[in-house]
Amino acid sequence: MALVRQQFILGGCRHQCHSHDSNTNYNKEEKRTTKMTRGAVRIPPSSSSQSFASSFSASRGLTAATKASAASAVCVTLSTSGTSAEGIAGDIRWGWSCLQGPRSEMEDDVVVRSDSLHGFDYAAVFDGHAGFSSVQFLRDELYKECSASLQGGLLLKRKDFTTLSKAIQTAFANADSKLLNWLEEVGTDIDSGSTATVMFVGGDMLIISHVGDSSVVLSRSGKTEVLTSPHRPYGSSKTSLQEIKRIKEAGGWVVDGRICGEISVSRSFGDIRFKTKKNEMLEKGVEEGRWTRKFISRVKMNGDWVTATPDIYQVALGMDAEFLILASDGLWDYMSCSDAVRFVRNQLCQHGDVQSACEALALAALNRKSQDNVSVVIADLGRTNWQAMPPDQEQVNIFIEFSQAFATIGIVSLGIWLSHQFVA
Ligand code: MN
Repeated sequence: MALVRQQFILGGCRHQCHSHDSNTNYNKEEKRTTKMTRGAVRIPPSSSSQSFASSFSASRGLTAATKASAASAVCVTLSTSGTSAEGIAGDIRWGWSCLQGPRSEMEDDVVVRSDSLHGFDYAAVFDGHAGFSSVQFLRDELYKECSASLQGGLLLKRKDFTTLSKAIQTAFANADSKLLNWLEEVGTDIDSGSTATVMFVGGDMLIISHVGDSSVVLSRSGKTEVLTSPHRPYGSSKTSLQEIKRIKEAGGWVVDGRICGEISVSRSFGDIRFKTKKNEMLEKGVEEGRWTRKFISRVKMNGDWVTATPDIYQVALGMDAEFLILASDGLWDYMSCSDAVRFVRNQLCQHGDVQSACEALALAALNRKSQDNVSVVIADLGRTNWQAMPPDQEQVNIFIEFSQAFATIGIVSLGIWLSHQFVA
């Protein structure tokens, strides 16, 4: 156990240390498989037909595990669509990776479930704070709420966006209220919270339900499309300004980009002290001398300051959609969206292996000195024949630029030399 908690934690092994007490078969199965394969490869129970696709990814995972140094224990968790024999067009290949990085705690987590909602795959990234309990609760419960509310996925199939988005909103609201009750009941990490960005992908449709500061990016023929906007109470983006306005209207305030000077994400699950326990939080602030009683007497409470209400997006994928990257802010705060797309595209052109690409991208964030946990999920949408792709345009461009630079230096040097000749 201690080994697993060292520097590198890859793909979902976080919940080895935090098993949730739910009694569902899914959970039992999860625990069993996780224990069995600690430090190596886990194929999730949902992959019923693990033919070529699973064994292909599994072998890649083992390679990655073997590559890791002895000092840093590695657990690789993998999933595939489980239906593909040889990556036929249209089959989604999933890869994911979670790295703890230099932080002393691992509070991110990833859940990927293939083909579990009437032909739709489910992927979620959680970024917890003030303890892992909220993530621990959500990693199974949010899926269950979504599945129930979406009638097992039927509503995704029907493609009526209004009904669909109402159902997802209900699922998120239910998950949050259950989490708040659970946190109070259990009493551990009672102040904890978690962001959650969820993708439902099936056929030509992508639905995103987004709370917090993780992000989803789509590569469309190599062009970057940023599909979400972080919920942060600072900065000058449209979303940030809307969030600040919402918080103020609800009676809250923002200091140094943090709500009440405390929390830098404006939408999340949990975070009870900005929801049902605001009075207690304000009292505590008086006791600790952070504000005065006179100050809080003027605070008008008009709703939650932090909410779990998601932004919901529907995206038509089309044949030019190549892959999706869903990652926590531990990646995006250290790498631009277009850099990440270029990086992954380059990887896929080189070897076509989405799991390796995922691990490489997460490591690249740490190499860029990411101070946060880094969680990355990549969905290769199966529409691109990576082997047939031309060499990365960017690499070619860099080569051309270098050649041009050297040519320019040559011409300038020649000019200087000639002018010296004339002066002489
Ligand atoms: Mn983070």
